[in-house]
Amino acid sequence: MIAGLVVWLAVSSTGNLTINELEKTAQARLALYDSSLRAAIDRYRYLPYVVSRHHQVIDAVAGTGNAHTASLYLEKVNDRAGAAALYVLDQSGMTIASSNWNTADSFVGEDYSFRPYFNQSLAGHEGFFFGIGVTTGRAGLFISTPISRNDQIIGVVVVKLELDELEKNWQDGGEVVFVADADGVITLTSRGDWKYRTLLPLSAADRERITRNRQYVGEDLNSLDIGGQISDGKGTLAIGSEQFLYDVKKIDGSDWRIFYLTSMSDVTARQGTVMLITIIASGLIMLIILFLRERELKLASQREALEFERIQSLNTRLEEEITERRKTENELRGTQNELVQAGKLAALGQMSAAIAHEINQPIAAIRTFCASAKLMIERGKTEQLDQNISQISSLTERMGAITGQLKTFSRKSTGVLEPVDLKVALDNALQLLSPQLETENCQLERHELRMPLMVHADLVRIEQVCVNIIRNALDAMIDSPKKRLRIDLTTAESNVIMRISDTGPGMEDDALALLFDPFFTTKDPGQGVGLGLSVTYGIVRDFGGSIKAYNMTSGGACFEVRLPLLREQTS
Ligand code: ADP
Repeated sequence: MIAGLVVWLAVSSTGNLTINELEKTAQARLALYDSSLRAAIDRYRYLPYVVSRHHQVIDAVAGTGNAHTASLYLEKVNDRAGAAALYVLDQSGMTIASSNWNTADSFVGEDYSFRPYFNQSLAGHEGFFFGIGVTTGRAGLFISTPISRNDQIIGVVVVKLELDELEKNWQDGGEVVFVADADGVITLTSRGDWKYRTLLPLSAADRERITRNRQYVGEDLNSLDIGGQISDGKGTLAIGSEQFLYDVKKIDGSDWRIFYLTSMSDVTARQGTVMLITIIASGLIMLIILFLRERELKLASQREALEFERIQSLNTRLEEEITERRKTENELRGTQNELVQAGKLAALGQMSAAIAHEINQPIAAIRTFCASAKLMIERGKTEQLDQNISQISSLTERMGAITGQLKTFSRKSTGVLEPVDLKVALDNALQLLSPQLETENCQLERHELRMPLMVHADLVRIEQVCVNIIRNALDAMIDSPKKRLRIDLTTAESNVIMRISDTGPGMEDDALALLFDPFFTTKDPGQGVGLGLSVTYGIVRDFGGSIKAYNMTSGGACFEVRLPLLREQTS
């Protein structure tokens, strides 16, 4: 579609360009033909005038001289001039002397009074006439001048030019050029078949006049019938099946017109070439465009494929990262459980000495009671046995309490959350740590509400929280002169708040920022691993609570745990 438009535009513009170009050429050629024709005529135009002034000619016409002498003179002059003939007519139109006096076609004695040029010159004008010679049968241009004597016209001098040579040159030139006379008869032409044809059919009067003048004797003067298509200047015309561009010009000093024709086939041929070139060029351009588009599409699909691959690998990486993260999360969760367990074991390790001490005492006591019971039985003092046995029983109860606590502590968390009374958890923790509290001679202060403080948690893990914080407080107070552990249990809004404070040295600012980070410890190696508070933090957070630590103005550290209060359980 676009290609078609391009071809059409190219061809039509080429057509216009070609026509413009050809018109310019035509004008130049026309001017050239015109000037060459005028040069051929002007070469002889002066001749009759010069001859008309010669005394031998004047004398011959006047009858006072010799006509033959005049003929000799004309012959001599014409030998030089090279015209077809140079001759003199008397007042009646009779040829009295001629340059061709001694040839078979001699004009001497011929009557040319019927020729218009004779009458024109007799009337004192220059005669200018193209016609076919009645004597020779050869066409030529007749230019005539009056011969005057004492202001009287006594004869006429005529020069006949044959323009065959010029016409032949035109024909050889291969261009289409012709001259039409005042009647529209084509007198000179490069196209032989148009010679003596007329531009328009002649009127009867014109034809009659031409016949009378014997101007084109023997010619039919058929019309090409193109006069209707001709206006001044230029245009197009059709002759037969041929189309032409024409340029026309009046020949100065005559009533002739000269035509220069350019065949339209030149235009169409050029248009054809241009069309062919344009089609090929458009085809090539289309091919290039298609090629470029194809390449662009290919590149685009390659880019898309690359992008797709990139996104796919990104997705795969993301998926891998997600899997990795899940794995890490699971591992962390597992680690946290392990840490809880590890924390408990560490606590157990530390407590083992105290526990061993606690248990060793009742065992030793039981052993002593058993030995004394044996003695009593041997001695038959069985009435005292009862007291002995009840002491043994109370000792085993105490031991049972200790092992019971240990059993509870070593119990692994079920992971199931249930309503738990924080006070109970705290009791258990304190029970667990009581040997240490006692050993270290630490004073315990408890301030708490009477009602149960229910939270949604896991008893074992809540105990772990309490144990970790209290154990740290005891550790911190190891060198304190006054060791007092204060525990406050209150509620605020919908939270249970547990504050555990000590009379230790408190915490450095640096330590405050890192307290809950895993493996942060200020204790000597073997004393602490830095996991207690990070595990505590994790547990509290799991139960939807929060934990913070700060130094008290009175000195010592305080750990504050907040957990959501289960109201329905408290009522
Ligand atoms: P660990 O007890 O094994 O060092 P924790 O995570 O339980 O690990 O405690 C981290 C650190 O927090 C302790 O080493 C100590 O420096 C500091 N800390 C904890 N509780 C107290 C406290 N009550 N007073 C002063 N410092 C404390």
